Amino acid sequence: MDRRPAARQRSGSARGAGRLGEVERLAELDLHGLDLPPGGACALEVTVPIAPLQIGGQEYRAEPDAPRLSLEVVQLINGWHFRLRGRLVVVGPCWRCLEPAHPDVIVDASEVAIDGADDPEMTSLYLRGEVLEVAQWARDAVAEALPPAILCEEGCAGMCVTCGANLNAGPCACPPPASDARWSALADLAARLSTEGPREDDQARPN
Ligand SMILES: [Zn+2]
Ligand SMILES: [Zn+2]
Repeated sequence: MDRRPAARQRSGSARGAGRLGEVERLAELDLHGLDLPPGGACALEVTVPIAPLQIGGQEYRAEPDAPRLSLEVVQLINGWHFRLRGRLVVVGPCWRCLEPAHPDVIVDASEVAIDGADDPEMTSLYLRGEVLEVAQWARDAVAEALPPAILCEEGCAGMCVTCGANLNAGPCACPPPASDARWSALADLAARLSTEGPREDDQARPN
C-alpha cells in the first residue's frame, strides 16, 4: 500500500520542506501542515539531524550526522500514531580498546499520542501541541537501538591493563599476571575438600 498520496503538496506545510514527501534536515514536523483527514496517513522520507550522544563520558555521533529515515504519520480519530525507521552508523570509541567503533544501528520506533490520555503509553514525549519533535525522538531512538556493548569488532582483544597496548595488534611485552599466593592457598584447600572431604587437621581446634 502506498500511503504517500495522502500527503498533499502544499508549499511550506512542513518546516524546512522543499517538497512534501522528502524533507532535508527535518528537526520538527508541523502536523497541522500535513492537513490529514481523520484516518489519513502519510509517509515522509526525511533526513534528521542527530546531536552527538554522550555515553560514559565519550562522544558517539551518527554518520552521516543527518541520516535518512522514513517517518509515517497516521491521524487517528482522537490522536496520532508515528513510526520512525531507518539504518545508520554510529561512530565513537570501542569500549575495550578505545579505537573507533562503527556499529550499525537499526531504528524502528513507534509513538502513539491519544488526546487527553493520562497513560504514559498513550502520550508522546515528542509531541508539543501539533509539532512532532523529530530530531529529539530520533536521537533517543538511536540511543535505545545501540548494541549492548560498542566494540570495534566482536572479538576485540582490548588493551593491556598494565601498559595500555592495543592487544589487537598482538601481545605486549608485559609478563603474564602472577597468581596471588593467598588465593592459591584457598584453591588448594577447595580442591582437596572436593576430592577428599574435610580432614581432621582442617577443622578449627584450640592450640
Ligand atoms: Zn576494540
Ligand atoms: Zn602490557
